[in-house]
Amino acid sequence: MAEILVLVDHAEGAVRKPALELLTLARRIGEPSAVVLGAGAAAADIAAKAAEFGAAKVYVADGAEFADQLVVPKVDALAQIAKTVSPAAVLVTSSGEGKEVAARVALRIGSGIITDAVDLEAGDGGPIATQSVFAASFQVKSKVTKGAPVITVKPNAVAPEAAPAAGAVENVSVEFTGNAAKVTSRTPRVSTGRPELTEAAIVVSGGRGVGAAEGFGVVEDLADALGAAVGASRAAVDAGWYPHSNQVGQTGKQVSPQLYIAAGISGAIQHRAGMQTSKTIVAVNKDAEAPIFELVDYGVVGDLFEVLPQLTTEVKARKG
Ligand code: FAD
Repeated sequence: MAEILVLVDHAEGAVRKPALELLTLARRIGEPSAVVLGAGAAAADIAAKAAEFGAAKVYVADGAEFADQLVVPKVDALAQIAKTVSPAAVLVTSSGEGKEVAARVALRIGSGIITDAVDLEAGDGGPIATQSVFAASFQVKSKVTKGAPVITVKPNAVAPEAAPAAGAVENVSVEFTGNAAKVTSRTPRVSTGRPELTEAAIVVSGGRGVGAAEGFGVVEDLADALGAAVGASRAAVDAGWYPHSNQVGQTGKQVSPQLYIAAGISGAIQHRAGMQTSKTIVAVNKDAEAPIFELVDYGVVGDLFEVLPQLTTEVKARKG
């Protein structure tokens, strides 16, 4: 069966959920092989997790370079492995770093790239990727016509499903090309106890309509009842009500959760750019003419300070 390379994102010794989604998707188009880079002592655990989700092989490359430098060592390793095994496709998570790695790898191995796919299927002569564009008005299906396709896939494209496979570990020694940029320090994300915004299955976002920093209380309460991440529009971030790390949109983060709830957000094109591929979109806005309602699956015309607490109470009641 065709070998599909999957770059496995991991942090603090654990495989990140989008990597499990990639392994699940990879099984539709061939036989996944995981690529685990710079895992240190946790490499065996990460390889075992990749095998649990269908990796027949696990290529492991270690070295201080992965921790000390930005993307180049990952590009060196993934391109070297791709050149050696000639896979049918290379899958990478659509994060900022993932897209940079994928683009550079495609250039190195002389193939084409498709970014921000939301689905993948097997096709004649290679995998077909689906992208969702223009505020989800169109779905574009495309395939790479030169070399091994390099495809980045948005988090939450599928639900991860276990499918135990052999997970035969192969240690790879990488020829690094040099340190173009070096990491000088790392500051861990301050933990809120909520899921990471770009990986969360549910996101509840607040906009200028929340009126003040304290207004985000009702947004956070609903997010916590749902086990969701909290997002914010740029207007709310610029007003200093919520951190920029939570901004969704063109100049913020791209999210693609199963459920996106926008409260007090008008739906400007720059905000849509960050959330339009969400599977189900709900908006709460007191203006029935707000552009966000053009995009939603469910819309509530009302005051968010009345609607959100009712929703929170209902969610908690259903959870028991
Ligand atoms: P508004 O447009 O002011 O909308 C507030 C909404 O809240 C209104 O629809 C109102 O009816 C509703 N409302 C008010 N009170 C209540 C209430 N009590 N209950 C319910 N609803 C209520 N924006 C982003 O979000 N992300 C980006 O990354 C981003 N990047 C940008 C990049 C560029 C280059 C530029 C030019 C702009 C960018 N913007 C971005 C800004 C964008 O154009 C909008 O200005 C912004 O998204 C508006 O935020 P908002 O919807 O919260 O505010």
